[in-house]
Order: sequence, then C-alpha cells, then structure tokens
Amino acid sequence: RTVYVNGQYLPETEATVSIFDRGFLMADGVYEVTSVLDGKLIDFDGHAVRLERSLNELDMRAACTKEELLEIHRELVRVNEITEGLIYLQITRGSDGDRDFIFPDPETTKPTIVMFTQNKPGLADSPAAKKGAKIISIEDIRWGRRDIKTVQLLYPSMGKMMAKAAGADDAWLIEDGHVTEGTSNNAYFVKNGKIVTRPLSTDILHGITRKAVLRMAEEAQMEVEERLFTIDEAKEADEAFTTSASAFVMPVVEIDGVVLGDGTPGPIATRLREIYLDESLKAAI
Ligand code: PMP
Repeated sequence: RTVYVNGQYLPETEATVSIFDRGFLMADGVYEVTSVLDGKLIDFDGHAVRLERSLNELDMRAACTKEELLEIHRELVRVNEITEGLIYLQITRGSDGDRDFIFPDPETTKPTIVMFTQNKPGLADSPAAKKGAKIISIEDIRWGRRDIKTVQLLYPSMGKMMAKAAGADDAWLIEDGHVTEGTSNNAYFVKNGKIVTRPLSTDILHGITRKAVLRMAEEAQMEVEERLFTIDEAKEADEAFTTSASAFVMPVVEIDGVVLGDGTPGPIATRLREIYLDESLKAAI
C-alpha cells in the first residue's frame, strides 16, 4: 500500500513520524475518515470543512490547502486501486524535538500530515447493515469538546471492547441521563414515524453523515426532532439507527438486550440508508 506522509508518497513500510510528535505523545491531533464508493469520494467537502474547523479550534495551522487535500485523496485512491473503502487523514501538531506541554512555535514547527487508504469491499452492500447492530449503553466519560474530531480515541475503543465483551456490536454513551452519541457514530431512534436525535453542541461530533441524512429525511417528508433523549426512550422505540461516514446509516435492532420491533432493521433506517447511498454516490467526486 502507498501512503502519504508530509508531502511524500511512500510504501507504508517506509513512512515514518518522529517519536516526539505531539500526536504520538499527547494525542494532539485531529483526523477525518472519508469513504470511497465506485472509486469516488463521498462528501469530501463536508470533511474538508470540518477538518478546518477542528484545526482552528485547536490553534493549529492547515498542513495544506483544500485543493491539495483533494488531490492527495484522489492520488491515493488511484495508486491503491480503491473502488470501495476508506481514506484516513490525520494532522497532528508535530514536534520541535522535545516533550513539552506548551505548544511549539507554529512559525518553526510544521504540523505532521499522514494519509492512508483502507480497502473495504462490501462497504455499501454490507451484511452487518442487513442484520442490524446490537448495542449496549455505557457512561460517557469523554472530555467536553467532542465537537473537535481529535485522535483521543481511547475511551471509544474501550467502549467497543465493552460491547464486544457483552456480545454486542457497539455502545451508545450516556451523560446526565441522556444519550450523547455512539462510540464512533451519531445516534437516533424512531417512534411513530418521527426521527429523534440529539441537537448539535460541544457534547457530540457534528457528523457529516448526520447533516446529510437529516437533510435527506426532511426532503423525503420524514419528521425530524432534535432534542435530548434517554436510553429508555430508545429502548421503547419502533426502530433505531446510527450514522457515520464509514458505515453510512446502520440500523440498530437491540439496545441493552431489549429487541426493537421484530428485531430486524426498521423501514425508516432501511429507506434512509438507500437514499443516502444513492444520493451520496450521485454527488461523489
Ligand atoms: N460521533 C463520533 C464520536 C464519531 O467518532 C463519528 C465518526 N467519526 C461520528 C459521530 C459520525 O461522524 P461522521 O458522520 O462525520 O463520520
């Protein structure tokens, strides 16, 4: 596989980053994951805009322009012959060759940019999405700026491990009695035809897929309500689902052992997945 690191395309075994990099020492960095379908990028613009926002919130400089980013994405897709898969992009604050809590001077310390592809045949026509996901709920003990897409993913990883240990696929996180989001996705339930999801704030990641799916739901005359909700409401729902750039719309069929509906993906989640895949592919670049 060919990867990209700081201006160079290299075989993955030859790509290196300093051991002093603040991404490595302090999780001082941000990332984006863009999906590839039919060899094209899904919602590249959305990811580029959010990346810029994450960098700004952390007083980091852009490692390159949006046009350059697009070019690198396309080149990696081309050389690695990706028809269906993901592109991972990470920008960290870099290092000035030592460990210090104080940010290095941005005039002399360049950010580190790394990109690689993951080949994922069956991303769109996913067996997991046909089955639907089982989720558990766990406490949300992450930091308070979840709107910044940082590489601090230890607790989401631990959440996925807890789900795995419980025989489930994923976890939803609960803070002050309300669901915030999934470990790596935004969370929704549907009751009497109405889609409910938590409103945007610093408590959750502003999902690129969330934005697109809510727009498409409204265009399809579905009712959407953005409000806080409890896990008990979700357990009593007709159906539930999550959204993310890497899994699109993923139906949820079980929450904490409670089966939703007949235990198969619900009609609204299924329809939204179809609409999302269809429209995103048409708009892909
Ligand atoms: N919330 C969290 C915590 C996430 O990690 C992700 C995926 N990166 C999402 C939501 C979904 O965001 P997107 O649709 O932009 O992938």
